[in-house]
Amino acid sequence: MKALGLSDVHLQPLDLVPQWTPTNWEVQMTAGGKTITLDSAQPAYDANALPPGGVERDAVYVGLGTEADFMGRDVKGKAVFTYSMQGLRNEGAIRRADSNGAAVIFDVSMLPGNMRYQAYPSGTKAPSFVLGDNDGIAARAMIAAAKNGPAPKVKVTLDIQHIPNLKTSLVWGTLPGSTDETIYVTAHKDGWFEAAGDNAGGVASMLGLAEYYAKIPQAQRRRTLVFIGLDGHHNGQGGNVGARWLTENKAKFFAKTALMINDEHPSTIATQSRPRYYPGNEIAWANTYMPLEWYAGGKQRPELQAIAWKAFKEFGVSLELDPSPTPPASDLGSFFRYLPGIDASEYHNYFHTDWETPEAVPWTGLEASTRAFAKIIDEVNKLPLSTFQRPEEPAPAPRTPPPPSPTAGGKQ
Ligand SMILES: [Zn+2]
Repeated sequence: MKALGLSDVHLQPLDLVPQWTPTNWEVQMTAGGKTITLDSAQPAYDANALPPGGVERDAVYVGLGTEADFMGRDVKGKAVFTYSMQGLRNEGAIRRADSNGAAVIFDVSMLPGNMRYQAYPSGTKAPSFVLGDNDGIAARAMIAAAKNGPAPKVKVTLDIQHIPNLKTSLVWGTLPGSTDETIYVTAHKDGWFEAAGDNAGGVASMLGLAEYYAKIPQAQRRRTLVFIGLDGHHNGQGGNVGARWLTENKAKFFAKTALMINDEHPSTIATQSRPRYYPGNEIAWANTYMPLEWYAGGKQRPELQAIAWKAFKEFGVSLELDPSPTPPASDLGSFFRYLPGIDASEYHNYFHTDWETPEAVPWTGLEASTRAFAKIIDEVNKLPLSTFQRPEEPAPAPRTPPPPSPTAGGKQ
């Protein structure tokens, strides 16, 4: 930020709750004298540890894990295998297995290959793991082959530490404008695996905007631009410590804010899982990027929605036809009730997986999204604060959260 010419570059340290850290785990399955290792197993975060040395349990198959799938199956104390993938309905299989007494749960993501997927907390007593398709199919084949004998044994270890006294931080830098009115651009800094799409892409796009506006004379920048690297949302129960800190200080930061652009997953290669008539069993890549789920201030800010739609169209950004009524599932969720916010993000096949590498983040999409964001900033700067500011929206009444489905449900 300093190298780009931003001023007031500031680190705001924040305390973290003890951080869930899996230090060691292994999953092996044995039947008929044969043992396989399920390498892709990835524990859902906040999963409970297993006893030291692990457990050994009988494998049981429950298909999609619906109530119908569980009928007639005894899963108590067992290693339960359930199958799903991005695009299927969330059947609540993991919660169902847990409430039926499973000892450990394997949720197979049936997307082609053997991806590791980092799931959101499953909220279950039994630890749950996501498995890749190759491992899940091998496990299923072993269960099927043992139909006339004893069930395969699954040996699982999972050691967890909760590391105390860690800190994270916000980082921000400012480009003063010709007024004290503000526009914010945010991008979260945390991520899983290489995190190329979620959210290195967003950080790159934010820095691209900073670089661009730093070259424009201050007198020609109507509003002060503030760029914030957010700590993110994977830092434990409650998460979002940076967004909460900003909200606690909202009178100081956001009294005269015309716009917040949250730059999160703005470009990912367009993929199809097993296209019809396609040879093989693969995720096929296209020569373009995924359409973005977008939000632009909601129904009560039709001007902002129109500006965003036009800008995305002008720069060829691939978009869902309809805007989301609220931000899709991003850090803007902490701000949109009291700030005019823009968000345009993607959450498809590679999201939260170890296949989310730089190759899966096309520069064409980054360029298009970033140029559209700049256009939105310029258009918003032509209009007064009153066009965008609205009274704070009430938070919806708390509701019972839907059962988690690590492979099909979670976002961010
Ligand atoms: Zn993200």
